[in-house]
Amino acid sequence: MNTTLLHAEGLRKEYKLPRGQTLRALDNISLEIMPGEVLGLVGESGCGKSTLGRCLLRLTELSSGTITFDGCDISSLNERAMRPLRRQMQMVFQDSYASLNPRRRIGDLIAEPLRVHPDNNGKKRSSSTIEARLAELTELVGLSTSALSRYPHEFSGGQRQRINIARALALSPQLIVADEPVSALDVSIQAQIINLFTDLKERLGLTYIFIAHDLAVVRQISTRVAVMYLGAIVEQGETDAILHTPAHPYTAALIAAVPEPVIRKNASRTLLRGDVPSPVSPPSGCRFHTRCPKAQADCAIVVPDLRPLPDGRVVACHFPLVNDP
Ligand code: ADP
Ligand code: MG
Repeated sequence: MNTTLLHAEGLRKEYKLPRGQTLRALDNISLEIMPGEVLGLVGESGCGKSTLGRCLLRLTELSSGTITFDGCDISSLNERAMRPLRRQMQMVFQDSYASLNPRRRIGDLIAEPLRVHPDNNGKKRSSSTIEARLAELTELVGLSTSALSRYPHEFSGGQRQRINIARALALSPQLIVADEPVSALDVSIQAQIINLFTDLKERLGLTYIFIAHDLAVVRQISTRVAVMYLGAIVEQGETDAILHTPAHPYTAALIAAVPEPVIRKNASRTLLRGDVPSPVSPPSGCRFHTRCPKAQADCAIVVPDLRPLPDGRVVACHFPLVNDP
């Protein structure tokens, strides 16, 4: 059976700023994730990737929109009703140190969710059950059991990410939102952690939303990609199609910014001009028009809808780089 695991429709998130201004962090975001998929979320810093990840897991309150997880509308559940669902969806963050209490041993940190949440029969887990699960988890993420009695500062960034991943896996979730989990790591360590994510997905049948600003990372792990700009998705589709023949000038610019030979560049080499506009006062019409090399007069007036292309992807551009039907 291939039913949607997570479906988000019309998500909006506004932050009220002190001087009465409104920052639109998410503007009408819709997406769908099937079980076993890896959806890569990309875009420049500040475009709303983390906000989207947190809103999808209901860690940040939405302003409007609906989220269905495993057939259940979770968008307006209160924290108590969310609780049994929390074990199904976990997050891994970029800063491997911030999420680990430095005064607690690794074993305690990984076991914490097992102590806080009851088992499937609503019962508290016994110490022996927790011990056994800890042994499984350390094996899964490639740590030795001797790590369990040590403290976070005794580990490298890559090892600490393994610890965070073990903690996220403790309750056997279905979905993991990984928010730039390798961005702070050296390139050689990045590859090891990406391989670990891939391996765990195969072994455990996990589904990921994998946030990265680095397209090379996204290409390695994602089956599909959603490209975000100023709080909106501007292009979404299969990874290969998007990276080899980007349809949105913004996607093309992101690809052009990647050093060779990681991704073969397309003929159109458009480099991004200027800074990202403020999400407090986004540009009229197409939000990308102020930096777009293809922009025409209309682009400043008419908001482009996300339209499907023949290969199944969607793109929000009046003049996509890939031929229209
Ligand atoms: P990304 O993860 O893509 O870098 P974020 O989701 O962190 O982007 O941020 C999106 C926008 O929302 C940014 O303009 C950011 O400054 C703003 N933002 C994020 N969190 C808050 C908050 N708690 N209050 C006000 N603005 C916020
Ligand atoms: Mg972020």
